[in-house]
Amino acid sequence: MRCTLILVGTELLNGATLDTNSVFMAEELNKAGIKIDYKLTVGDSLQKIEDALKFAKKMSDLVILSGGLGATDDDLTKEAIRKFLDKKFIIEDKELEEIKEKFRKLNIQFLNKNLKEVQKPEGAISIKNDVGMAPAFFVDGIAAFPGVPRELYNMFPKFLNFYTKNYCKDLDPIYIKDIIISGIPESILEEKIKGFFIEPNIEYEFLVKDYGIIVRMQTLDRYKNTVEKIKEKIYNSIGKYILTEDQEKIEDKIFKLLEKRNYTLSVAESCTGGMLSSTIVSVPGISKFFKEGLITYSNEAKIDRLNVNKNLIEKYGAVSKEVAKEMVIGLKTDVGISITGIAGPEGGTKDKPVGLVYIGVKVKEKVLTFKFDFIGDREKIRRKAVLHSLFELYKILEEDE
Ligand code: ATP
Ligand code: MG
Repeated sequence: MRCTLILVGTELLNGATLDTNSVFMAEELNKAGIKIDYKLTVGDSLQKIEDALKFAKKMSDLVILSGGLGATDDDLTKEAIRKFLDKKFIIEDKELEEIKEKFRKLNIQFLNKNLKEVQKPEGAISIKNDVGMAPAFFVDGIAAFPGVPRELYNMFPKFLNFYTKNYCKDLDPIYIKDIIISGIPESILEEKIKGFFIEPNIEYEFLVKDYGIIVRMQTLDRYKNTVEKIKEKIYNSIGKYILTEDQEKIEDKIFKLLEKRNYTLSVAESCTGGMLSSTIVSVPGISKFFKEGLITYSNEAKIDRLNVNKNLIEKYGAVSKEVAKEMVIGLKTDVGISITGIAGPEGGTKDKPVGLVYIGVKVKEKVLTFKFDFIGDREKIRRKAVLHSLFELYKILEEDE
């Protein structure tokens, strides 16, 4: 089973919008065992959408479009599909009522042009839109979704479930296991674990990211147990470098441990300027444990707010192990993180180059400091500092049984 994706929208071609929909769809299709032949991106042009459809339909069993399903004049996807299939448009009474009801609830006037949102080529099956207006639809091997990512995320899995059940006989769903590793160079990592991948049915690859390396293992669902066994071996060999698995976020894992121990948390940030606090606050429910995030950017702030000894800053500099340690000790909660570093592009010296970051971590009486030499631009260095500080805290919290 093969498919082609058509991403519709002039904004995808002129750089105004990054196409994230196809990334989402690709992941879902891949997991379901459907291979993608092509991804085509076209502007809001009837002719171009039709051209893309002609090509895609020739090449693949299934064609999936995203974008241009709305009610405005630049939304041309439906018309292109209708023309291509040479069908009439129909409107189902039930769907018309449903969309009118949605408009009523939101207190928006339903205009004639909104009829376009429930129009579909004859014979099309609709996919219910729980989060927006226009439903997606499927007809003659062509599925069309709105461009709004939230709406696509709502309807695409439903469609895929329906499609695989009804149209795919011998699909082999895929099993993917991602292990996220940090603190070990790629070449050494490979040396340590490549011997585990001797089974013929398991593909593996290394994906290098800002925060570490993803070891991705992919196989057919029926070989899942083999992947789990390899995973065990990886844990036994380099377990201390494993950050997390799959989509699981390190901040969520920290949340669970804080909850388990009933520990309070606060942080003191310099070069990350609130990014760490913001990451922590993204976890729902964290307010029970997260007390405060201080942005102690200047020396005075470090002295005033965290009681860092002025002489220490003069002697060792603000970016130093000593200051990171005092900063974290200055926090009043059970658990704390401090970050002080040089994010660049200026401010580096021979002794203290751009990318040098000291991180302090405190769990009750235990205080540890870590030194990192991150590579990258200002943004990357700050992001790495945040992730690594969370990673170090996680490891210490986990040991703290
Ligand atoms: P609407 O009813 O809102 O007009 P639509 O189906 O017509 O929905 P578009 O007008 O194409 O969708 O796009 C709606 C929004 O979704 C825009 O903000 C657009 O930038 C965004 N979008 C469109 N395609 C993609 C894509 N491939 N990846 C990410 N965002 C996208
Ligand atoms: Mg639109």
